[in-house]
Amino acid sequence: TNIDNLSKIDKEYFIHPTTVPKDFIENGPKIIFSEGKGIRVKDVNGNEYIDGVSMLWNVNLGYGQKELADAAYEQLNRLPYCSSFYGYSNENAIRLAEKVVSVAPGDLSAVFFTSGGSESNETAFKLVRHYWDMKGLSDKKKIISLKRGYHGATISTGSATGIIGFHNFSGSKDMDILHAKPHLTNCELGDKTAPDYDESIRSMIEKTGADQIAAVIMEPVQGAGGVHVPPEGYLQAVKKLCEENNILFIADEVICGFGRTGKMFGVENWDVVPDVMCVAKGITSGYAQLGAVLLNKEIRDTLVQYDQILGHGFTYSGHPTACAVGLATLDFLEKNNILQNVNEMEKELKKGFKYLEENHRHLAKTRAVGLLAGFELMQDPDTETPFEQSIRAARYVVDHCFDNKLILRAADFEHQVNIVAIAPPLIINKQEVEEIINIVDDALTSFEKTL
Ligand code: PLP
Repeated sequence: TNIDNLSKIDKEYFIHPTTVPKDFIENGPKIIFSEGKGIRVKDVNGNEYIDGVSMLWNVNLGYGQKELADAAYEQLNRLPYCSSFYGYSNENAIRLAEKVVSVAPGDLSAVFFTSGGSESNETAFKLVRHYWDMKGLSDKKKIISLKRGYHGATISTGSATGIIGFHNFSGSKDMDILHAKPHLTNCELGDKTAPDYDESIRSMIEKTGADQIAAVIMEPVQGAGGVHVPPEGYLQAVKKLCEENNILFIADEVICGFGRTGKMFGVENWDVVPDVMCVAKGITSGYAQLGAVLLNKEIRDTLVQYDQILGHGFTYSGHPTACAVGLATLDFLEKNNILQNVNEMEKELKKGFKYLEENHRHLAKTRAVGLLAGFELMQDPDTETPFEQSIRAARYVVDHCFDNKLILRAADFEHQVNIVAIAPPLIINKQEVEEIINIVDDALTSFEKTL
C-alpha cells in the first residue's frame, strides 16, 4: 500500500533527529502524521491521537487554528520572504519585535530574530561574549549551564545541553561551557558548607573566576530534562549571584515562553528579570519556524552602535511570513484569554494527579507549572527508591498511552530515572484533561500488573 511505501522510503532516505530506537530502524516510522484539529492529530491510517505534549512542547494553540494559517497564507501570497540585512526591513518583523518587547518583563527592550531555539541560544552565547568584548572584558567567555538542561543541538548549545549524548557529540564541543548541578538553593545563597557545594554555580564562579565568565543560562523550568521545577528562591538566588559577579543571566524560555507556565514567560513565576531571554516554539505555536533573542537596554545599546557592524545574522532573521504567524499567535493568546485557561487547566490537571496518587502507589513527584507538567515512577515514593534499571516504568506507561491514542513523552535517559512529561496544547478544556488522566490511569494500572 501507499503507507507501507512511505514507511519504506522514510527508512531509506529520511534521517530523523535524535535517538532512534532499534525497532524504529527495523520497522520504519512509528507514526506518519497527516492532519490535526484542536488537541488531536491523525495519522495516515486515520487513527486519532490526543497530543499530550503539544508535539515538542511547541504547538501551544493546538491544530487547525485558522487565524494562524490565514496569516501565513496571506503573507506568502503578498511577499513570502525578504531580507533583513543591509538596512532592509519588513512590517511584520517590525511589529512583532515591538509586540514581543511589550509583553516581555523588565527592561528587555529589543529583539534579534532567529529560526528556532538552538539558533536563539547560539545567538545569545555569541552576543553576550561580544558584549563583554565591547566592554573591554574579553576574557569573559565561559557560559555556565545546568545539568539536565536542554538548550539545542548546535556545537555550543549542544555543549550547554546537560543531557548525555548532546554535550559532547564525538568531541564536537565548546570548551568554554561549564555544567553546574541544578537547584542547589543553599549553595547559591552562599552556604559553602552545603554538601553539593562543589557542583554549584557559586563554586564554579569562585573556581573559574568571574572575570572568565560571560553568562549563566538556564530554563526557568527544565523541560526535556524531565520537567524539573526550581524550588522557591532558586532563580532569584542565581540572578542575585550573577549580579554580584558581573555575569549575565540568560533565560532559555524556548519551552516556557508565551504562556506555557501560566504566565507569559516562565521567569515571571519567580519575578526574575533576565538580561537576555531566548524564545522560539510557542512564539508561532509551531506554525512557522521562528525564534528570538531579547536583550536588555544596556546590552542592546552596547551592541547596536552607530559605526559597528554586528557580525551575526541568518538568511531567515525577521522572516516576514514567520513573523506574520508570530503576530497572529500573540493576538490569539490575548483575544482568547489563553493564560487564564492555562491557570484553570493547571488546577484540573492537579486534581487529576491527586486522584492518580491516591490510586497508584508508584506515582511520585507530580508537578505542574501551568501546563508544563509531569510525574515520576518509583519503586517506593516515600523513600524515593527508584525502580531497578531493568524496569522501564516511564517507557511502559508512555507506550501504553500511545496504544490508547494519547501521545506523552518519557524522560528516562538518565540511570533509573522514570519521568513522564505532560504538556498539552494551552487551549485544552476540562473534559480533555480528564480524558488524559483516564488514559494515564489505565496505563498505570496495566504497569502495576507487570510487577
Ligand atoms: N531550548 C529549550 C529549552 C528547548 O526545549 C529546545 C528544544 O526542545 C531548544 C532550546 C532548541 O530549540 P530548537 O529545537 O528549536 O533548535
